[in-house]
Amino acid sequence: MHRKECCRSCAGQLYDAFAAANGVRPDAAFEEKLLASISRYPRLEEYLEQWTEVRVGLMPPPNSATILKTSCPICEALVSVIFVGSPLLRAAESLFDLFGSLVTRWEYVGSQLMFEARKPDEGEMQRFEAIVSEYTHGEIASDSFSTPRMSAPSVPQNARDVVARSIELGQLWIVAHELSHALQSSVAIYTDLGSWRDRGWIEDILNYEFPGVGEDTRANWAIELDADVKATDIMFDALFDRMKTIENHTMRGETAAGMLCGGLAVAMEAIYRLEVAVIGEEVRHEGYVPEHPPSHLRWKSNVERTGFLSRPRKDVDLACFGSILGGISQRFRTRHQEERKLY
Ligand SMILES: [Zn+2]
Ligand SMILES: [Zn+2]
Repeated sequence: MHRKECCRSCAGQLYDAFAAANGVRPDAAFEEKLLASISRYPRLEEYLEQWTEVRVGLMPPPNSATILKTSCPICEALVSVIFVGSPLLRAAESLFDLFGSLVTRWEYVGSQLMFEARKPDEGEMQRFEAIVSEYTHGEIASDSFSTPRMSAPSVPQNARDVVARSIELGQLWIVAHELSHALQSSVAIYTDLGSWRDRGWIEDILNYEFPGVGEDTRANWAIELDADVKATDIMFDALFDRMKTIENHTMRGETAAGMLCGGLAVAMEAIYRLEVAVIGEEVRHEGYVPEHPPSHLRWKSNVERTGFLSRPRKDVDLACFGSILGGISQRFRTRHQEERKLY
C-alpha cells in the first residue's frame, strides 16, 4: 500500500481503469488468501508495502500477472499496482495438489530423501486436462480446490507439507517477479538488495544458451530474467528472515534455498504448462517475439541463483525438491502438448 494518500488514490484509479479495460472481475476470496500468504513473510510484505500494492482478479489469460505503473499527478512519485490473475494462482494450486496426490513415499533415511510417486490414472489425466482447459478459458470451477486431493490417506504427511509450502512459495514468487518489474524503475532498491549485481551474467546465459535469438527477443528476455533473479533474491531474503529459529546461518541458508527451489518448480512448471496451452500456436508464427524466456532457462538460472545465495552443502542437492516436483509433472504428457509437439 502506497504511503501517501495522493498515491493511494492514484493507484486505485490506475487499477480501476485497468480492470474496466480488461474485463477483470474481482476474486475477493483468492485475494484474501494471497494477502494472508504474503503476511506470513514479513520481509516480502515490507517490500510490497514500500513500493506497490497487490490485486487479484479473474481475467482471461494470457495476461496472467502484470505490473501497472504511472506517476502520481500530485507528488510525481512512481505508483504501481501488481495484478495477478486468480486463474493462474488457482491453476498452480490445483495442478500441484494433483501432482502431490501421486506421492506414495517421502521420508528421510539419514540425510537422504526416499521418494516414490505412482503414475496418474485415466481420471487424473482428465483432471489435468480440465485444469488447463479451465485456465485457457479464464474460468476456474468454484469447486476446483475445495477438496484437496493431497489429503488422501495414501499421501505421506511430509509430502503434503512440502508440496503445500512449495505451492505457496510459487505463488509468492510470481508476486515477487512483478514486484521486481516495479523495482526495475527504481535504482535505490538495488543497494538494499546487496547481493544484486550487474546484468552481465544474464547476457552470458543468453549468449551461451540461445546464441541465435534476435535483438527484440533478447531485450525482452534480459528484462524478464532480471526480474526473475531479483524475485528469487527477494524470496530468499524473506525465507531466510522468517527462519529465525535456526541459529546456524549456513543451515538456515540451505533450508531457505531448498524450500525456495520447491517454490520455483511450482511457478515455472505452472507457467510452462499454462503458457504451452495458451500460446502454443502463436510461437509458430514467423516474426513472433516471445516476451518470456523458455521455462527451462528460467528454472536453470533461478536455481543457479539460489545456489549462489546459499553456500552449497555436499550431501544436499538444493534443487532436490524442485526436481522431484518437476519430475511428477512430467508424468502428465498431455494431449495438447503432443498435438503441438511442445515439450
Ligand atoms: Zn502521490
Ligand atoms: Zn515479467
